[in-house]
Amino acid sequence: MKFDTVIIGGGLSGLVCGIRLLQQGQRCVIVSSGQSALHFSSGSFDLLNALPNGENVINPLSSINDLVEQAPKHPYSKIGKDNFEKLSSEAEQFFREIDVELTGTARKNHYRITPMGILKPTWLTMDGFATAESKDNLPWNKVSIFNITGFLDFYPQFIADEFLKTGTESDIHLFNLEALDQLRRNPSEMRSTNIARILDKNIEEVSRILNEKSGDSEAVIFPACIGLEASSLDKLRKLVKKPVVLIPTMPPSIAGIHTQQYLHDYFVKAGGVYMLGDSIRNADMQENHISKVYSFNHGDIPFTADNFVLATGSYFSQGLIATSDEIYEPVFNLDVSYSTDRKEWYNPKMFEQQGYHHYGVKTDDSFRGMYKEKVIQNLFVAGAILEGFDPIKEGSGAGVSILTSLSIARTILSNKERG
Ligand SMILES: Cc1cc2nc3c(=O)[nH]c(=O)nc-3n(C[C@H](O)[C@H](O)[C@H](O)COP(=O)(O)OP(=O)(O)OC[C@H]3O[C@@H](n4cnc5c(N)ncnc54)[C@H](O)[C@@H]3O)c2cc1C
Repeated sequence: MKFDTVIIGGGLSGLVCGIRLLQQGQRCVIVSSGQSALHFSSGSFDLLNALPNGENVINPLSSINDLVEQAPKHPYSKIGKDNFEKLSSEAEQFFREIDVELTGTARKNHYRITPMGILKPTWLTMDGFATAESKDNLPWNKVSIFNITGFLDFYPQFIADEFLKTGTESDIHLFNLEALDQLRRNPSEMRSTNIARILDKNIEEVSRILNEKSGDSEAVIFPACIGLEASSLDKLRKLVKKPVVLIPTMPPSIAGIHTQQYLHDYFVKAGGVYMLGDSIRNADMQENHISKVYSFNHGDIPFTADNFVLATGSYFSQGLIATSDEIYEPVFNLDVSYSTDRKEWYNPKMFEQQGYHHYGVKTDDSFRGMYKEKVIQNLFVAGAILEGFDPIKEGSGAGVSILTSLSIARTILSNKERG
């Protein structure tokens, strides 16, 4: 099977890179084992919320110089200050052009609301979610918070308590639909995805309840367990007489699953080949050049291409594997940066910075992977698998995935032009 580019891993990084390459006429395949981190997404993409030294970031574009100084191996440092600004704006345009509706700009972080009602900075938030411009001020004086009876992954009282700290009052309403009774027979079925499938089919009834119970509130706050079908959220918003805003629930994330599915469908409609449920297992490499990769499902039938992109995620997606004495990358056995002193991997204080978050695949400044300290000329590495950043402490997870993927797509396309 011959392609221009083979992408290994079909999460946010693989899909952004694949769509960008297809838009410029490349033939691409994405081979992906399974679910991605998007299935657990908060509904927001973070770019940079804090510097490695812990200082809060308000404007990611103006903090990039400090980041480069503090963390020279950070993927953003490899991208460089000017390209960081260009790629952030290219990313915002990229999503607009493919009709993924997102609020926000890299010039100023806004605030999203967590499932516990806490306000956290972020870059881009998916359509329909509650956001605020300031940490101390919500856009409403009074709201009605709704939850479904028996749904345990959403906490209205915590949210109401946090809202009150900013001066916003809330009333809380539990409601039920007969159609949900079949799920309620087994409490473990009361999960956001199952509930969304039922609510999406009963939008009229849900909107009648919201209109009836929300009294004099300025907005309806609803758990993000609706909208697996994109049109149902639009319909709900039309039928309810005041703004309906979503707050993320505990995973799985409906908005994330919807985004994954949307990007997948866009990639396939644009002519890409997406092989779900297959894994790349190894490769043929000669003189620091990859010629073929092999998958479990296709046995000895190889995938050949001019370029390969490794976007297999971090430990969570098994892009990196940690054993008791080493951390390795399982497909190409690429060089991985990590401490050989295992005590440095973890900090027993769970909420402090963890060494293992920074570990990942080593690359050059063009994100080409390295094997035995030599750069592999046509193997690029994108997203969560990369070394040198802490997606949790910095709040930079999706930003690194999106910006490195766009940067790699640019390099592949410009190398092609140069012939
Ligand atoms: C649980 C969780 C929640 C997160 N939530 C947020 C959030 O709300 N906002 C934010 O900004 N960041 C968040 N992050 C950070 C996250 O890492 C990035 O946002 C981003 O989604 C990562 O995308 P990725 O494509 O690099 O990796 P992944 O999403 O992990 O995708 C990697 C894909 O590669 C596949 N794969 C692995 N090995 C192989 C193989 N050998 N062959 C083929 N396919 C393979 C996996 O099955 C998976 O589908 C979260 C991370 C985690 C772990």
